Amino acid sequence: MKVFVSSDMEGTAGVVAWEQCRAGQPEYAHYRELLQEEVNAAIEGAAAAGAEEFLVNDSHGAMANLRPERLSGHARYLSGRHKPMYMMQGLDATFDAVFFVSYHGSMSGGSSVLSHTYNPLAISEVLLNGVPAGESGINALAALGYGVPVVLITGDDTTAREVEPFCPGVHRAVVKTSVSRFAADSMHPLQARELIRTAARAAIESLPQAGPPAITLPATLEVTFRNADLAEMATWITGVERTGTVSVAMAGEDPLRLFRTFVTVVLLTRGIAE
Ligand SMILES: [Zn+2]
Repeated sequence: MKVFVSSDMEGTAGVVAWEQCRAGQPEYAHYRELLQEEVNAAIEGAAAAGAEEFLVNDSHGAMANLRPERLSGHARYLSGRHKPMYMMQGLDATFDAVFFVSYHGSMSGGSSVLSHTYNPLAISEVLLNGVPAGESGINALAALGYGVPVVLITGDDTTAREVEPFCPGVHRAVVKTSVSRFAADSMHPLQARELIRTAARAAIESLPQAGPPAITLPATLEVTFRNADLAEMATWITGVERTGTVSVAMAGEDPLRLFRTFVTVVLLTRGIAE
């Protein structure tokens, strides 16, 4: 049994500030350890339920936050920048389950620590089939494309709620309650790991009842930007239509193609957002 782990960082118990998640900042060395242990807890829980192969796709910042030799389960580690499938790089139809570890809430949703939707400087809201979607919902498109169920998400309470419309029945390990975008009430890290381990085990044990993400096709992504320039440039990508002063839409029957189009929009905005 193979498990694909997409690991972010903002959803780790104890994390509440950008400085804690940025390479080069003094606090980062400490918080990356907390992330490492949460990723390992997810792997260990899955292994306890019989999972044997793991691929961890590091999806945060420069995407090299973990120590490869300290990954549990002899996991393979996909790290580094410029991955075409971004937070879902490495997933294919040979996997049995997808885990979202240390995820965070969307830019437009309820208060969630360090909330954003791919690029906080560029994107203010994304709707997937009319429903507000964070990175979890958008990334579920890739899981749908390969027919693999998303069965675990870890992070704060808002993140756990936001994924529900797209991945009903997903197992959730809520390791903190967001008070604001920069404050949270977190479990002790040891307890957070225990919760994640238990949820990951239950997620794999109940795989026979799990289905691929519940996203109706053809699907539509509507993206609202922080200014009109970003919306204008997004329309230079084939299949992206302007729908308003600061908004665009893209639609399609193929969830992988739709996800790739969205990723291309995100990469384009990296160059011009400020
Ligand atoms: Zn991140």
